[in-house]
Amino acid sequence: MNRKLHIVASANDLARKLRRIDRSSYGAYRTIAGSYDFEDFILHIDRIQGDPFAAPSRLRASVPAGAAKFPPQAYEPAIRATGVATLLAKRFAREAARASSRRGSGKSGLIGIDTPAQQVLERTAMRVDRNGVEARFFAGLPAAGRRILAREAEEMLLDDLPAVIRSVLFYKSNDAARIEAAALTNEDAEYLRTALSEAGLVAFIADGAVLPRRSGVDDRPMGPAAVAFVSPPPLRREIALPNAGAVSGMGIPPGVTLIVGGGFHGKSTVLSALERAVYNHVPGDGRERVAAVAEAVKIRAEDGRSVSGVDISPFIGELPGGSKTRCFSTENASGSTSQAANIIEALEAGTTLLLVDEDTAATNFMIRDRRMQELIAVEKEPITPFVDKVRQLYDEFGVSSIIVAGGSGDYFDVADTVIAMDEYVPHDVTDRAREIARKHGSGRKKEGSGRFGTVTKRAIDKRSIALLSRRRGSRVCARGRDEIRLGDETIDLSALSQIVDESQTRAIAAAIAYGREKYMDGKTALDDLLRRILTDIDRAGLGVLASERAGDLARFRPLELAAAINRLRSLRVTPLKGDG
Ligand code: ADP
Ligand code: MG
Repeated sequence: MNRKLHIVASANDLARKLRRIDRSSYGAYRTIAGSYDFEDFILHIDRIQGDPFAAPSRLRASVPAGAAKFPPQAYEPAIRATGVATLLAKRFAREAARASSRRGSGKSGLIGIDTPAQQVLERTAMRVDRNGVEARFFAGLPAAGRRILAREAEEMLLDDLPAVIRSVLFYKSNDAARIEAAALTNEDAEYLRTALSEAGLVAFIADGAVLPRRSGVDDRPMGPAAVAFVSPPPLRREIALPNAGAVSGMGIPPGVTLIVGGGFHGKSTVLSALERAVYNHVPGDGRERVAAVAEAVKIRAEDGRSVSGVDISPFIGELPGGSKTRCFSTENASGSTSQAANIIEALEAGTTLLLVDEDTAATNFMIRDRRMQELIAVEKEPITPFVDKVRQLYDEFGVSSIIVAGGSGDYFDVADTVIAMDEYVPHDVTDRAREIARKHGSGRKKEGSGRFGTVTKRAIDKRSIALLSRRRGSRVCARGRDEIRLGDETIDLSALSQIVDESQTRAIAAAIAYGREKYMDGKTALDDLLRRILTDIDRAGLGVLASERAGDLARFRPLELAAAINRLRSLRVTPLKGDG
């Protein structure tokens, strides 16, 4: 069979094929799979859906560079291309929504693409580079019941879809200023993050940034009521960006930083912005120049999660009932043990900055004050509170913490920097806090040993990760942002606020399966496993994770991949001796 015959087919050939299958049963759509030359682009029909109600068919449009005509400065260096691709995918989504119309049963007539939100992530849906532009999208091929509607399909594939493609994937069909902004803003954002360590910072919030969001479920910036960020002079720093030039803002130094202030004064809003600041944001988001070190991890209590073989002994001594915490497993962690496990797992996966908000922390994990110490003897309390560990984390491991602590002044003793939020405006109150700490001792005794303890590495037992469902065969998929299904298991990711996109969840699911087949040998430490998977993605793109040309995967961090694996309820691990 000569595949070339397919490749040289023209748009007219597609029209002819469609007419031949009019009113046939849906399966006959398979005959239109192939590639069609539309002169200025090629339409690839990669995968045909089984019926009008199934997941829609998968298509690609590739526009050669000579036709797309994007200037090299729009895609080189590659970080600019990610910004431009994000803009094109958003525009494609809008145009596709406009061109979608009901053309029969089920998903007939639907055109769509994996759509970015506020974060700029590398995505398989849209690629811009020196070879041109490639968009991967989906379309519901029209039918009435299971009968093919060829005329509708012809309108859709030969008129409406080409109009969408032509209005988005060519440089001349875009606003040049928006393309430039998308490219340069993303380059600056990436630069800012990598410049942090040289500037002696773990995070930076530029003056003028807009941190509050429209609502808890709407990540777009708050409207005119938003108070723009103003840095406190003692923490004001300037960083020179490659495109925007010098930008001033608040620099957060390494060590232990507290964010304090009255309720509703904007503490959690700052912390949430820092959580998200491991990603770049689209122009107009308000957080374009907010950056945190790439390995920053939000830590929260997550009672009910499962934990497999984690050494939480730095925080939790022997539990009632004699449960060992050097290799701690549970099906149902408490608030404090889950928070301890979340920290140890983040350390194992390579975090350098912990972000903790009192709103989502377990109080008994965070603090134990003088009076409680007196009432409950140390031997009866298995928990060494975070306040006694947070300095050791920095001094021994170089891991910084930023903690929202409106409720406990006991943290003053261990803080390097204290920032007070007052009506959404930050003030440096470090000196005042120190003075108060001197004046009023906390009266509490330091708990725990003089050192943090060990972070034990673990190897994954690959047999504990089943990709086969007893009833459904192979199953590796995402369900929304918050859920991964592997075989018959479900992984709950709802506590992981740094997974920002359903397409990241899909990619993480695929990465678990990929890592399982390729690298899990019962000996490789989890952090090594993460490194190997991410190196493969760096080399070959997200495509390495998928057997087909997936158009719905987005870039994720190794930290979230680890977090997902750690939440698999069937997970079994082997602790590795050694360098702890
Ligand atoms: P806290 O954690 O100090 O109690 P939050 O960060 O939850 O406060 O903020 C309280 C409310 O104020 C939220 O509804 C938030 O959207 C709003 N808010 C936060 N920062 C700003 C700002 N800079 N401008 C306007 N509104 C803000
Ligand atoms: Mg709060």
